[in-house]
Amino acid sequence: MHATTTRALALDNVSHRYGNLLAVDRVSLHVDEGEVTCLLGPSGCGKSTILRLAAGLETLQDGRVLMQNRIVAEGESGRSVPPERRGVGLVFQDFALFPHLSVARNVGFGLTELEPGARAQRIAEVLDQVDMSDYADAFPHALSGGQQQRIALARALAPQPQILLLDEPFSGLDARLREQIRDDTLHVLKRSRTATLMVTHDPEEAMFMADRIYLMQAGRVVQSGSPDALYHRPVSPFVTRFFSETNELAGIVDGGQVATPLGVLPAPSLETGTKVQILIRPESLRIARAGDNGGAVSPAILEEVRFLGGSKLLVVRLEEGLGGGTVLRLRQSGRHLPERGSKILLQLDPADALIFPA
Ligand code: ADP
Repeated sequence: MHATTTRALALDNVSHRYGNLLAVDRVSLHVDEGEVTCLLGPSGCGKSTILRLAAGLETLQDGRVLMQNRIVAEGESGRSVPPERRGVGLVFQDFALFPHLSVARNVGFGLTELEPGARAQRIAEVLDQVDMSDYADAFPHALSGGQQQRIALARALAPQPQILLLDEPFSGLDARLREQIRDDTLHVLKRSRTATLMVTHDPEEAMFMADRIYLMQAGRVVQSGSPDALYHRPVSPFVTRFFSETNELAGIVDGGQVATPLGVLPAPSLETGTKVQILIRPESLRIARAGDNGGAVSPAILEEVRFLGGSKLLVVRLEEGLGGGTVLRLRQSGRHLPERGSKILLQLDPADALIFPA
């Protein structure tokens, strides 16, 4: 016997044009049961278009959309299941609550097929899930942004959708509240085991929420995988830079190695003579302590120290050797750091350097 996973959603080779603009270019992706998947990328890269194609709010031109392993839209045949019959729950950035309906009636809006008793019970259940039981009779205008977001989530979850589609659901909230609400939302999604596809442009948000991330650039998926894989094993400088600030050096491969101002780095898979870009994250550099002998150290001057709360951002200038004058940024925690202007020794674990052909 041959077991197939039930895919809550799959896009198979989907492309989409607006006039001459190819907004989505041969994208394939899937969301498994119980999984939270993020579609991540800069503004305009095609994320919302994909979400609308999945929901059926946009006519599919090319490729296929499957839900629960069944085709719901096909470009070639023009076949398409209407949005209301796809079993999708939607939450948008602006929450789109009905202003003239109470919280309970907002949440019950999609429950037309239930008897009044069962309907009231389901409304109570989901309001409890999002911790808003006390607000059943309130109207949206009387709620804070965070509370409105919870109601929008409850409304989308009430009919027990096969898949939940979230389009930048937290970007209308201020920073502090956003962290709390996304934490709460993740708990609700995981407890209800609702398969979710979330669109965001915020890498930190995607890493926090997602089991799997699809990173997009100009209509195409450039890398997919776990947050850990994308962060630690990026396939290109674009992917690396998307997740954090970087220091960038250049070099040439010689015998499986690259000489840099921060020591000799291994580049076993690249041919001698290949020009490379070396990307180093601020957190990968540290100030070596006296007597440290865990790898190469480079003398430098500490030029600036900026306080960031939990850590400090340091700007250093390499002193001598082949990188004389190179300015690098690093992040370090701890109260006792050298004074501005002092000489320090800088250290990099060669495994933390990300090397790409230039
Ligand atoms: P994202 O969600 O990643 O910001 P979108 O899917 O909204 O990207 O848009 C992808 C590209 O398609 C952008 O260049 C955008 O300007 C364009 N676009 C989106 N919707 C339309 C539309 N209805 N008509 C024409 N162009 C559109």
